[in-house]
Amino acid sequence: RASISGHTAITVILAHPVAHVRTPQAMNAHFDSLGADAVLVPLHVLPEDLASVVEGLRRMRNLRGIVVTVPHKEAIARLCDDLTEEARQVGAVNVIRHETDGRLTGGQFDGEGFVAGLRGAGHDVAGRAVFMAGAGGAAAGLAFAFARHGAARLTIHNRTASKAEDLAARVRAAYPGCETRAGGADPAGHDVVVNATSLGMHAGDALPLDVARLAPPMLAAEVIMAPEVTPFLAEAARRGCATHGGKPMLAAQIALLARFMGAV
Ligand code: NDP
Repeated sequence: RASISGHTAITVILAHPVAHVRTPQAMNAHFDSLGADAVLVPLHVLPEDLASVVEGLRRMRNLRGIVVTVPHKEAIARLCDDLTEEARQVGAVNVIRHETDGRLTGGQFDGEGFVAGLRGAGHDVAGRAVFMAGAGGAAAGLAFAFARHGAARLTIHNRTASKAEDLAARVRAAYPGCETRAGGADPAGHDVVVNATSLGMHAGDALPLDVARLAPPMLAAEVIMAPEVTPFLAEAARRGCATHGGKPMLAAQIALLARFMGAV
């Protein structure tokens, strides 16, 4: 990108806080690598200001799109005019396309990014039994994506069991072909074991599942990007399992988000 001009495709990311968010560097490097005349600008937005910020952004005619992250993904879904099927299923939006008539179409690529990241590393969920710890925002995106991409079986384990049961019921209703249920912490009998909780981001966090039951040929996969090797991945590797870190999930999403916004 030589310089920003009146022709540049403007995109923004809304977050609170924003300083730690890595998407601007990754997206702007992606634009540069394609020679695209586009830029992603980080905007720090408090939850109580979200509706008025979105109303203002809607009126900016040269705004191409909005990337959305914590804590706005669910609230902003209610401010969009249209949602993709994926965003409607998950009930959260992580990217918005700004149509030329000012309409906002919300999309959701957390799960697609995770599955694309796995594929990039040579792993597939089609026909496999997947165990997932977590039933929060990221986990919901992953669960629908596993079922959409043909997982044969999905077990969801969560500290708050009712959330795992609710998510399992929603996935079952959308994808009856995937045998989805809530379950305990034991991942035995599954091919792919995923941590989709935030456990492992901070020193001293508990483990998200019963790691003593991890064994080859299970693949252990993680959503957390930092640290790169979480205690869950370290325990899995110690037991001889292949591991897959959280970074490819974001890397794979960058191209998907840029394309959805129409910025490239
Ligand atoms: P949410 O707050 O929506 O969900 C958090 C999840 O972690 C819930 O399942 C919650 O369980 C569980 N959890 C949190 N603390 C504990 C604890 N002390 N003991 C047991 N379980 C716990 O967060 P998100 O889903 O938005 O984010 C989860 C992780 O995903 C984060 O680390 C985030 O950084 C990462 N992420 C990574 C992305 C990537 O591109 N790599 C993209 C998006 C997210 P409960 O329901 O019981 O509270």
